[in-house]
Amino acid sequence: MTKQLRVAIIGAGPAGIYAGNILKTQHPDVAIDLFDSLPAPYGLIRYGVAPDHPRIKGIVNSLHEMLAEGSIRFYGNVTFGRDLTLNDIRKHYHAVIFATGAIKDADLNIPGVDLEGSYGAADFVSWYDGHPDYPRTWPLVAENVAVLGNGNVALDVARVLAKHADDMLSTDIPANVYEGLKASPVTDVHVFGRRGPAQIKFTPIELRELGEVEDVDIVLYDEDFPEGWFNEDAEGVTNQHRVMARIIEGWRERQANRGADEPVASRRLHLHFFSSPVEILGADGRVSGIKFERTALNPDGASVHGTGEFVEYAVEAVYRAIGYFGSELPEVPFDDKHGVIRNQGGRVIDESGQQQAGLYATGWIKRGPVGLIGHTKSDASETIENLLADIDSLVDPAVADSDALLAELTARGVEFTTWSGWLQLDAHERALGEADQSPVQRERVKVVDREEQVRISRG
Ligand code: NAP
Repeated sequence: MTKQLRVAIIGAGPAGIYAGNILKTQHPDVAIDLFDSLPAPYGLIRYGVAPDHPRIKGIVNSLHEMLAEGSIRFYGNVTFGRDLTLNDIRKHYHAVIFATGAIKDADLNIPGVDLEGSYGAADFVSWYDGHPDYPRTWPLVAENVAVLGNGNVALDVARVLAKHADDMLSTDIPANVYEGLKASPVTDVHVFGRRGPAQIKFTPIELRELGEVEDVDIVLYDEDFPEGWFNEDAEGVTNQHRVMARIIEGWRERQANRGADEPVASRRLHLHFFSSPVEILGADGRVSGIKFERTALNPDGASVHGTGEFVEYAVEAVYRAIGYFGSELPEVPFDDKHGVIRNQGGRVIDESGQQQAGLYATGWIKRGPVGLIGHTKSDASETIENLLADIDSLVDPAVADSDALLAELTARGVEFTTWSGWLQLDAHERALGEADQSPVQRERVKVVDREEQVRISRG
C-alpha cells in the first residue's frame, strides 16, 4: 500500500500546475491543494505572456485540463506568509512545493535609474497584462524609447510599445491598456544589447515576428556588424543562432536595397548591439537620454569588454528588460544573490546545506528566471522525483481533514476563490469579449480589479 500524501503547492502558474500533475500521475494516492495569491490561476501565462502571443497563451488549455480533472484543488486570493503560513502547511500537509516564479525586475545599478521615465519591464508587462496589483495607468508619453536587454522580454516590450494599438485589439487586453497604447506618441523604439548580434538571447519565432509588425520598420546599424560577425562554427552556436542570423541578414539586405519610392513606416524599431548602459541621463528629474559604452567581443567569442568609447541617445523613456528576479517568501531559505529559494534538485536547504523537511521548490523560484515554459516540466519532474524519494521521512500532518484548513481560512476572513469560481470568472471574461463592440472579434476581455475578480468568482 502506498502512503497517502497531502501536498500543498504555492503558485498556480505553469510550474506549480505541472508539478501537481506529475505528482498525481506518479503517486495517485495524493491530495493536492494549489494556492495562489491572485484570484485566478495560470500565473505567468495570464500575467507575463504578451497579449499578442496567442500560441503561448494557448498553453492554458492543457493547464486547464490538468486542473479540470479534479484531483488538484485550486484556491486563489490566498497569500503565503499572510493568509497561509508555514505553520499551517506543516499542520495540514506532508509537504509543500513552492512555485512562485520570478516577477520582479533585476536591478540595474547605474546612475539615473530612478529618474521618472525609467521603468522595469516586469512592471510594464504587469500593466499591459492587466495584473490586479499594478497601477491601471501607464505614462506612455515618450516619442523615443530605449529598451535595454536582448532577451525575449525586451522583444515583448519593444513590440508592444511599437505596435499600433488597433493591432492589439483582437487580444485580451483590458480597455485601459488599449486606450493607453492608442494615445502613445511613440515613433522610435531602440533596443540595446550589451553584446553582439550573434550573442542575442532571443528565440527565432519571436525575433522573426518583430519584422512582421504592421507599419513598423526595423533599423540596423553597420557599426554593429563587423566583418564575419556571425561565425557558424564558433563554439556554442546552435541552429537557433543560425536561423536568427539569417533573419537579421535578411533585414540588413532589405534595408540596404530599399528603393527611394518604397513606403516608409510611421514607427521604427532600431536594434543596437555592443552597447553597455552606463548612465540614464535626466533633465528636471525626468529621463532625457541614455549613455552607453561601446563594447567589443573578447577572443572567447562570447563575452565583451568596454572600448572606452561612449555614445548618447536622446530618449524620453527607458525600459529595463535585463532579466527577472525571484522574491523571498517568509520563513523559506532564500539565496538573495541569485533570487532563488535555496535548494538542491528542488529540495529546500538552508545556508549550511541542511535539507528542510517537507519543503520543495520548482520553476523559476528554483532555478532562476531562464528558459521557456516547457522547460518547467523537466524541472518539476526532478523536484517530484526527489519528493517521492523522501516519502518515508515526510511527517504526517496533525490534521488530515482536507476541509479543515479551508474552514480556518474562512474564519480568518480570507476570501479565497475556487476552481468553480475561476470557471465563473472565465465565462464572464469570455462574455465581455463577445459583447465587445470593437470591429475585431475578441475571445476575452480581462477583468483587472482584484475585488471584482473575487466578487465574480465567489458569485
Ligand atoms: P534573458 O533571456 O536572460 O535576457 C536578459 C537580457 O538582459 C540579456 O540580453 C542580458 O545580456 C541582458 N542584461 C542583463 N544584465 C544586463 C546589464 N546590466 N546591462 C545590459 N544588459 C543586461 O531574460 P528575459 O528576457 O527576462 O527572459 C526570461 C526568460 O523568459 C527567457 O528564457 C526568455 O526566453 C523567456 N521568455 C520567452 C518569451 C517568448 O515569447 N517565448 C517571452 C518572454 C520571456 P547578456 O546576454 O549579455 O547577459
